[in-house]
Amino acid sequence: MNAEIIAVGSELLLGQINNTNARFLSSQLASIGVNVFFHTVVGDNPVRLKSALEIADQRSELIILTGGLGPTKDDLTKETIASHLGVDLEIDEVALTSIEHYFKKTNRPMTENNRKQALILKGSLALKNDHGMAPGMFLEKGNHYYMLLPGPPSELEPMFAKYGIPAITESMSEQARIVSRVLRFFGIGEAALDERLDDLIENQTNPTIAPLASESEVTVRLTARHQIEDEAILLIDEAEKEIQSRLGQYFYGYDDTSLVNELMKSLQSKSLTIAAAESLTGGMFQEQLTSLSGASSVLKGGVVCYTNVAKVNLVKVREETIADHGAVSAECAQELAENVASLLGADIGISFTGVAGPGELEGHPAGTVFVGIYLKGKPTRTEKLQLAGTREMNRVRAVKHGCRLLINSLKEEKL
Ligand code: ATP
Repeated sequence: MNAEIIAVGSELLLGQINNTNARFLSSQLASIGVNVFFHTVVGDNPVRLKSALEIADQRSELIILTGGLGPTKDDLTKETIASHLGVDLEIDEVALTSIEHYFKKTNRPMTENNRKQALILKGSLALKNDHGMAPGMFLEKGNHYYMLLPGPPSELEPMFAKYGIPAITESMSEQARIVSRVLRFFGIGEAALDERLDDLIENQTNPTIAPLASESEVTVRLTARHQIEDEAILLIDEAEKEIQSRLGQYFYGYDDTSLVNELMKSLQSKSLTIAAAESLTGGMFQEQLTSLSGASSVLKGGVVCYTNVAKVNLVKVREETIADHGAVSAECAQELAENVASLLGADIGISFTGVAGPGELEGHPAGTVFVGIYLKGKPTRTEKLQLAGTREMNRVRAVKHGCRLLINSLKEEKL
């Protein structure tokens, strides 16, 4: 099934709001194997909406419209699509009762316009709105499926997840089961990954293989379809095995995880504690770790030691180390990692020191970063990174590399 999303609302065209509904729906549809080929945005204008529908009918099987289901005059989606399809509107009694109930409860008078919100396309399946008034709807007509969803994301997102997706999957090819899995890679670019999977991507049928680059990571989404769910899972397992045999060294996790999340899981499973000394990352590593619940069981704390004074006074780096090797050096990273672990009584110390940019420092170009990893009882490891992004990207990437390096060290040392 291929789909098109038509977002209705003049405020989208005026640049007053972002079309986050299209983004949300696209990612949800990808996870059930529906290809979204077009995003359309159209203002609150019935003539232009009708022409958008005519174009969509020619190229898409599933057409999802968002917005314009409200009670005001400019909310015209339902009326326009009803006239476009030659379908009447009728009151959905469940929605009407819930709207009446809302007005009774809040002791406010209900207007005729509010009643209009309970109208749905005749013959459509009403999608309950658990967080607002206007129901959504799903209609099969001719060779097309139409879904209408309310504009506010707080209503659209839960409605689509709870009622929209099941309605779509049920309509897709005799209830074929769709299973999808996202593999996450770090340390390899999109082009290099594409090259290594070239033949698989070229010949993909079931499962489909879709690489996507974002924020210095690459993901590969595998989506398989089969009447029997276990068979779909087997198809994905097989494809994953082949991909892992080619790219396993860059793989770090599945679906919605992140490097810091994987690190946290690894530390928790081994009951290890960590402390951090951060220069160019300014506390970003600790911020990310503390954003995860359960951080208190692993993170002892750390120091933002941005200046040499802070490195020496707070983390006890020797002045000679900085004089002889500079603050941007493996030697400094090593002492930072060892000392912060010892000062805070942690099993592990991690450190980040380097040049975020844009200028150079101590003769090192922007993007030069040293990461130090101290694991209790093991020789301290340092790694030099040469990053090539903006200041912000270099800082973000340094943290990701640090997480990756530590995850690998924990595996290698069998801690
Ligand atoms: P309401 O009953 O609130 O009027 P509606 O279904 O008529 O809902 P709209 O009036 O088109 O929807 O939009 C209501 C609000 O929802 C907008 O002001 C905006 O904040 C949000 N919204 C609408 N469309 C989108 C979109 N495509 N992406 C993100 N937010 C949106």
